[in-house]
Amino acid sequence: MLDLVIRGGQVVTPQGVGPWDVAVQGERVVALGQPGEFSEAGRVMDAAGKIVVPGGVERHTHLAHLVSMHPEENLFTLGPEEDTRGMVFGGTTTHVDFCFVRPGSDVQQVIETRAARWQGQSYTDYSFHVALQGHLEIKLFDQIAEAIQAGFPSFKVFTVDVLPPHPRRHPYRLDFGRIQLAMEKVARHDGLMVVHAEDHDIVQFMYEKFREEKQTDGWLLPQVHNKLSEQLAFRRTIQLAAATGAGVYFVHTSAREGVEAVAEARAHRLPIYAETLHHYTCFTAEDYRSPRGFCYHTYPSLKYPDDQAALWDGLVNDGVSTTATDEFPTSLELKLRGQDLENVTGGNLGAEARMGIVFTEGVQKRKMSLPRFAEVTSTNAARILGLYPQKGVIAPGSDADIVFIDPAFGKRLTVEDFHVSDYSPWEGWSVQGWPVTTIRRGRVIVEDRRLVADTRDGQLVRRKISPEVLRRPAC
Ligand SMILES: [Zn+2]
Repeated sequence: MLDLVIRGGQVVTPQGVGPWDVAVQGERVVALGQPGEFSEAGRVMDAAGKIVVPGGVERHTHLAHLVSMHPEENLFTLGPEEDTRGMVFGGTTTHVDFCFVRPGSDVQQVIETRAARWQGQSYTDYSFHVALQGHLEIKLFDQIAEAIQAGFPSFKVFTVDVLPPHPRRHPYRLDFGRIQLAMEKVARHDGLMVVHAEDHDIVQFMYEKFREEKQTDGWLLPQVHNKLSEQLAFRRTIQLAAATGAGVYFVHTSAREGVEAVAEARAHRLPIYAETLHHYTCFTAEDYRSPRGFCYHTYPSLKYPDDQAALWDGLVNDGVSTTATDEFPTSLELKLRGQDLENVTGGNLGAEARMGIVFTEGVQKRKMSLPRFAEVTSTNAARILGLYPQKGVIAPGSDADIVFIDPAFGKRLTVEDFHVSDYSPWEGWSVQGWPVTTIRRGRVIVEDRRLVADTRDGQLVRRKISPEVLRRPAC
């Protein structure tokens, strides 16, 4: 007998959308059938009126992470035990965080340290990107092949020191020589580069210039983390990728210039992918001037309506493959503690809101198709990062990570609609459609917006990226 049958919903699959029944046995989907086809099951869930989509894949989080904007205070963002509860309320069943390799550390050891921190603490399944930072020893790059073999095939680099030179922080940036070396290694062993691309010289020069002019207002951020900086860094990174054969996933694309650089590379059949953040698609640089303006900030900065138009066009049609959050959960007090260029707190709170916001703003307002919605919230991230087809799709053999979206759920969101911190950037935002039920590996965790299984037994998922994702733009 089947463990679970989901009946009556509009099920979104790569083959299309239909009124299929979904059969689950244990942790997996075993079949999709015609309505009423599966007669016996331990449990039947009625999804009438709901849209049934694959569980969200949030591929950009910084949980239990040092708040490096205030280095003297040794503060950390909320951990998986708190943030992933919001994720399951919001329809996300897998997230990918980071482990940081800095001079003196060892790749395997940083993976183990992060994995131990997550063990038994996450409502969702999870994995980690390996972030390479600072003046790393050249021989450390020999460990890349081993990490890929172990199931950690994505390597994050910054082309820029994101934060200002005052006060001093540990370096984020990897120089282009070392980025080239990392690209050569990942190209050879079927790994992927994950790149935060901004022009180091321009960003650091603008910080210096504003400091000299004694201009400190945080709303100047878009002039520091500016559009030209994104254009230069995306194009330089793409040229290096083309020369080395590496695939690149650009995190938090914020500007039209970034979207255009990626589109041009993809037109040349290069395996280049762009992520954007729902914050970038919904808030602009103008919002920095509002009373809670910096609660919408992460690096690079918010941009302009014209950039939003390019991001939406890429999400709805082609060219921007995924939505993510750059999740950096803190209290509102900590998020708003700095208001100046040199002490504003970066990072977003919004992994919980991501699926619902993209549904409202994409599907309801901008004619995004339901299959495309599943792609940009789940399937594409799973494919690009090597979680597919275990994750990112409702299909026989895949993990039963399944979410019901209620398109009739319409309201202005309040802080009570969220479950992580004492605020949400999305308070006051009107939505039409919201995730109401979340099933992770066959287990119902949230049902009708109530937590019904307070379980933090999410598992570490080992990843392997399909060569087709790494040879040409596959999604
Ligand atoms: Zn980030």
